[in-house]
Amino acid sequence: MFSDAHAHLYMAENLTKVLEDSAKCNVKLFLNTAVDIESSEVIAKTIDRKNNIYGVLGISPDFSSSQIDMINKLEDILDKAVAVGEIGLDSKIDIPMDTQRACFEKQLELAQKSKLPVVIHARKALAEVEKVLDELKIEKAMFHFFEGNEDDAKRLEKRGYLLSIPPLDYARYNRVINAVDISTLVCETDFPAVGKTPSDVLKTIEKIAKIKNKEITFTGELITQTIKAYFDI
Ligand SMILES: [Zn+2]
Repeated sequence: MFSDAHAHLYMAENLTKVLEDSAKCNVKLFLNTAVDIESSEVIAKTIDRKNNIYGVLGISPDFSSSQIDMINKLEDILDKAVAVGEIGLDSKIDIPMDTQRACFEKQLELAQKSKLPVVIHARKALAEVEKVLDELKIEKAMFHFFEGNEDDAKRLEKRGYLLSIPPLDYARYNRVINAVDISTLVCETDFPAVGKTPSDVLKTIEKIAKIKNKEITFTGELITQTIKAYFDI
């Protein structure tokens, strides 16, 4: 069984079809990831452990200004989540970093209190995110749509974090994949944000398998085991 470590399934127009197409490619485990309170509440209601659809609940940087006062609502439903996310910092959006950081830190504290890993959104803000994770001594984080280079990858690996690789831009990701152990890598599509669908994780699995000189099925299943162990599924 293969997995999509970061998808926004709640955004699907026809979820049944998405899941059917994914199943044909053996992609059968999903971390359905929220970006705000509304999507967190929707996901919390649609968690389906029997069908391996798990919830990652949180407020992304985009909503840090408008929803920072609603974090208590997140706390109420966090018992349903396998992680807090996607949370982090984004220097490409028009929200002051101080506001973003406050929302990020509050949610990191919540994750610690709930003993949950976090799923990180870091866009052109990797150093700042690392600093916050360091200060709060966060032990478990998955970097969604990892955008660092191979040195960043090695440094984050040493801290015990996971790097999630999307199915594009392989020239760059090849170097990242090469730089770290296979057990540090997971694959995602960020469905539907960049026009990919969960079955596209296969492309990343094939890449990783080739670079690490492993069988494709072995690689995909290993990644599923990595996700299950990390998120205590
Ligand atoms: Zn996303």
